[in-house]
Amino acid sequence: MALKLKCKDYGFECDFNIEGEFSESQVKILKEHFEEKHGIDYSKEVVAQMIMNKDHS
Ligand SMILES: [Zn+2]
Repeated sequence: MALKLKCKDYGFECDFNIEGEFSESQVKILKEHFEEKHGIDYSKEVVAQMIMNKDHS
C-alpha cells in the first residue's frame, strides 16, 4: 500500500511529509516526528490508525 502523508493533513503547521509503502518503519518515523516536533506521544496503534484512515479518504 503506497502512502503519501503530510503532517499538515493532521492539522499541524508543518512541512513534514512521508512517502512509500505502509510498514512498521513508516509508523515509527511518523510517531517519532509527532513526539519530537509536536510534543505529542501517540501510541503506535493510534499512528497506524491515522495512516490507515488517511489512505481511505
Ligand atoms: Zn509535523
